[in-house]
Amino acid sequence: MKRSRRCVFLSHCLLAQAVRAKGLAKYFAGAVKPVVQFCLDNDINMMQMPCPESLCAAGGLEREPHGKAWYEKRGLRETSAEIASRQAAYMHELVEAGFEILAVIGMEFSPACAVTYLNKGPRIYRDRGIFMEELQRELDRRQLKIPFIGVGQRWLKKLDRQLNELLDDELTRLKTGSGEAIECEGRKRDFSLPVHPIDV
Ligand code: SF4
Repeated sequence: MKRSRRCVFLSHCLLAQAVRAKGLAKYFAGAVKPVVQFCLDNDINMMQMPCPESLCAAGGLEREPHGKAWYEKRGLRETSAEIASRQAAYMHELVEAGFEILAVIGMEFSPACAVTYLNKGPRIYRDRGIFMEELQRELDRRQLKIPFIGVGQRWLKKLDRQLNELLDDELTRLKTGSGEAIECEGRKRDFSLPVHPIDV
């Protein structure tokens, strides 16, 4: 069988809600099914990134929920930077080997993995999580252009649309040959997919 060379990089808890802080796994007990189903249906490899909050000394597996400012003072940025560096190196290796990374998929409202939205109590505001900031920094440093999608578990219709847009965009690029090509150590690869923020 021919191996699929398409992949997405997922926040750890999209495949394992067990690592979420206490009380936050409200919508799915295990994996976030729509994301997994999308990957299964389209033969997309699921690359699971480590969970920064679980690995951070101030976090761990039995942690209470905390916000970005709390974690900023307690080492999450350092933990995130280490993970981001390794993940970006892996992405670079995959791209070099001819794989296509369709997207990084993170978890909205997480102080580590939010892509576009965080919250303070009921107030929602635009910001990125610490890990996603560090990952973006590493990708920029390596000139890898990969879109980020944030999963809001209450916004499943939007999620479905965003995931399918990834495939539409890929198809369009294949048909038209359009899009910005980036140089990756002598090889040209096309990673011009747009960022997909979720609007509330
Ligand atoms: S830090 Fe990221 S991977 Fe870990 S539980 Fe929070 S959102 Fe999920």
